[in-house]
Amino acid sequence: MALAAPEVLTFEALEGGDWDALIVIGPNFSELDSDYQAAIQNAKMFDASVGETLSVLSCEVAPGNRLLLAPTGPLDRDYDDVRRFYDAAREAVARVAASGAKKPALMVTAVPTGALWNKALASAYFGFNQGNYESLEAREHHGDDVEPFATVGVVGNVDPSFVKSIEAGRRVARDICGTEPERMSPKRAAEYCQEAFAGTSVSVQVIDDRMQLEHEYPLLCAVARASFEVEKQLPAVVRLEFEGEGPIEESIFLVGKGITYDTGGADLKTGGHMAGMSRDKGGAAAVAGFVKALAGLNPKGVKVVAELAFVRNNIDNFAFVADEIITGRSGVRVRIGNTDAEGRLVMADPLAKLTEEAVSATNPSLYTIATLTGHAALAKGPYAALVPNKPAMSKGYVQRILDAGESWGDGVELSPSRREDFDFIRGRTKADDVLSSNNGPSATTVRGHQFPMAFLVAVAGLDKHGQNSDTPLPYTHIDIAGSGVEGGNWQHGKPSASPVIALAGAFLDK
Ligand SMILES: [Zn+2]
Repeated sequence: MALAAPEVLTFEALEGGDWDALIVIGPNFSELDSDYQAAIQNAKMFDASVGETLSVLSCEVAPGNRLLLAPTGPLDRDYDDVRRFYDAAREAVARVAASGAKKPALMVTAVPTGALWNKALASAYFGFNQGNYESLEAREHHGDDVEPFATVGVVGNVDPSFVKSIEAGRRVARDICGTEPERMSPKRAAEYCQEAFAGTSVSVQVIDDRMQLEHEYPLLCAVARASFEVEKQLPAVVRLEFEGEGPIEESIFLVGKGITYDTGGADLKTGGHMAGMSRDKGGAAAVAGFVKALAGLNPKGVKVVAELAFVRNNIDNFAFVADEIITGRSGVRVRIGNTDAEGRLVMADPLAKLTEEAVSATNPSLYTIATLTGHAALAKGPYAALVPNKPAMSKGYVQRILDAGESWGDGVELSPSRREDFDFIRGRTKADDVLSSNNGPSATTVRGHQFPMAFLVAVAGLDKHGQNSDTPLPYTHIDIAGSGVEGGNWQHGKPSASPVIALAGAFLDK
């Protein structure tokens, strides 16, 4: 795998190396040395837009004589944040490549003071990698050099192993999320994980035996029912485990929705709404990405268990249908409301299993990550929605992720869980305990992205682990339907790897 790994440089080291361009990102360029100022003034004589727009200019003191100015725009408005550096770096990639540079170095300038701007250089590095990334299909067809750059220098103060590990995780997340449904079928997603974690201290277990799946994950198997006849579409649960050295101080349990293709099932997606549904595995992708980031850092005292539910939501004669009542792993009877609300079904049993394990773990917290609802995309735009239970609020887990998202520039927002969400999913008859979904589109359903969290709580048995129980378990559901791909464009947008940076910032930045 090609990786734009950072070499962290001092400014002086730039001159001695074989770097061939310097990219400077900032709201203005007035803090640069006088030699750079002279080059900028010279260039401005024939192009007044230099420094106001993305500009490449000749500069004798710059490596390769190439200076690239990438303005962030103003940073002093109430709504500006560190993502301005990310965006400017991402947008610079194509221009730097077009200039002929092969080995650029990146620096930031005129960064505002204050805690919210401390990660400007790291954010620029992540943005540059985002712009440099090409899909797995493109790399396998054209070769790794379809990506413009194999390396980038970072001038200034970042922890190279930390940002490099996060970026390795984001790369895994983008690959799993973005790849088309045949190349990233459940089986091949499992193989990808085995490869991605080979040689690390993360163990990978692939659960793909039908008997075992039906025993452990009955709701997941309902969704998979129309896939068991097709060898290459068989479901697989990938279990990732990591246990850091020393006494365990924190245990993190994650479940990812990995719908490798979502036809909607018997509630078929019609009217052109199916395209892009190979990306319905973005939650599993993000979980794998977070674990990959962790694998690069080997943190002491941390235990992580993750289950990725890779399933294709198909339609055929065997397909499950609305009105069926299916008993989940926890014993809760689920009335199917709509087969296109399949993500909560594939996650509920793994979440029930990890809840059982979390009860005896040290300082546990649980997460589900999913491209779950159009409602989240509408309500939150490019921000991941965090829907926590009370223990996750009171023990500070959600605040950790919110704070990390702000400082590292990976947008997350709070969506409190409310009583109406639990009313919404309650069983309507004595024949069932909960209803999986209503029948309208989530985007036009009141509290459409919050109520699925209530469903997951009820079906996983987490309702027995609330604030007032003997064993409260912090749990947060994370809906990335708006944040998982650039521009919210599920068919063509580049996967964003949301919320890998926020989670890494919250749990791995020691
Ligand atoms: Zn669906």
